[in-house]
Amino acid sequence: MNIHEYQAKELLAKYGVAVPKGIAAMSVEEAVAAAKQLPGPLYVVKAQIHAGGRGKGKFKELGPDAKGGVRLAKTLDEVEAHAKEMLGNTLVTVQTGEAGKQVNRLYITDGVDIGKEFYLALLVDRATSRIAVVASTEGGMDIEEVAHSTPEKIHTITIDPATGLMPHHGRAVAKALDLSGDLAKQAAKILEGLYRTFLATDASQIEINPLAICPTAEGDKLYVLDAKVGFDSNAMFRHKDLADLRDLTEEDPAEVEASEYDLAYIKLDGNIGCMVNGAGLAMATMDIIKLNGAFPANFLDVGGGASKEKVTAAFKIILKDPAVQGILVNIFGGIMKCDIIAEGIVAAAKEVNLSVPLVVRLEGTNVEKGKEILASSGLAIVPANDLGDAAKKIVAEVAKAA
Ligand code: ADP
Ligand code: MG
Repeated sequence: MNIHEYQAKELLAKYGVAVPKGIAAMSVEEAVAAAKQLPGPLYVVKAQIHAGGRGKGKFKELGPDAKGGVRLAKTLDEVEAHAKEMLGNTLVTVQTGEAGKQVNRLYITDGVDIGKEFYLALLVDRATSRIAVVASTEGGMDIEEVAHSTPEKIHTITIDPATGLMPHHGRAVAKALDLSGDLAKQAAKILEGLYRTFLATDASQIEINPLAICPTAEGDKLYVLDAKVGFDSNAMFRHKDLADLRDLTEEDPAEVEASEYDLAYIKLDGNIGCMVNGAGLAMATMDIIKLNGAFPANFLDVGGGASKEKVTAAFKIILKDPAVQGILVNIFGGIMKCDIIAEGIVAAAKEVNLSVPLVVRLEGTNVEKGKEILASSGLAIVPANDLGDAAKKIVAEVAKAA
């Protein structure tokens, strides 16, 4: 689960991380009121969407010469003008895809002078089973490009969970960022705040790009100017307060609906809908569809206890995708018996008035009974014997129907 920049910054500030002052706004009036509460004289109006690259992004409705999704304003009138232009319009960035994302929220924040921009991120490193800190002096721009062309400029420091964050980690990050003296101390403090946030919220990633040196009247200050925070969805049950930060308008509607039925669904680009139980079997099913020259329209794991309600909901969600031209059901009856699943499939197919070819491969307890139910259902269900057979059949059925 991802959250907006302003939510991430409010969260980080609670853990002592230095962020410039800022206030979220849902309307032009709120944007101006927010700016009035900031010290000025420089404001930044930032589009809040779940995608990076906003600064260099373009608004679909405004033409190529218009400014992007991160804009400086020197007066309240400029804040108002930017807010008017941005709210309700569609921002296209390297991370949104061509469709872009509608801007419904803004963040009005203090404009700061920037001396230098760094990259700093915390993530779960699966190879070492540890939290890794990634630091680079090359912040503010495309970090993937830095990693590709100058990998020596990316430093990775892993944290042993047995000791937790130690002072030497702070020193290592400061060194990676070429910082000394007071700035090194500020970097260590920011790292500590990020690490505490990471653990306390069961985060999966915290990405700061840029972390910036900002010259101020009181000397150089390190500030987090952009923050992207994602949480481990499997841990959300113990963070009810964080669940409230979810912005459903940022998510695929089908994925939101699927999560209501406790179905693991991810939309993909192909034309063959898949309904499978178990993530491993779902991956194998997607692989074998590809092996037969077609592409899956989704990943869908209905889980171990695939009830009739779940199967019906899954059919409906798959069929809402206009790209779907056929469905492959691949279910192993272990916890659930095949005859119960077959009844669920038949009932669901009738209820949704299934109009695309359906291939079903059942295996496991009571498989013969299950196949009988499918065969005598009166529906045009194509039975399959194994995974390879199922994939061949659905690809052939879709080609025939086209
Ligand atoms: P994105 O990564 O989506 O483009 P950022 O928040 O990183 O958005 O903003 C893009 C750039 O805008 C930053 O690299 C920084 O140079 C500048 N910027 C962001 N916030 C501020 C701020 N508060 N004051 C001054 N400049 C800022
Ligand atoms: Mg950024």
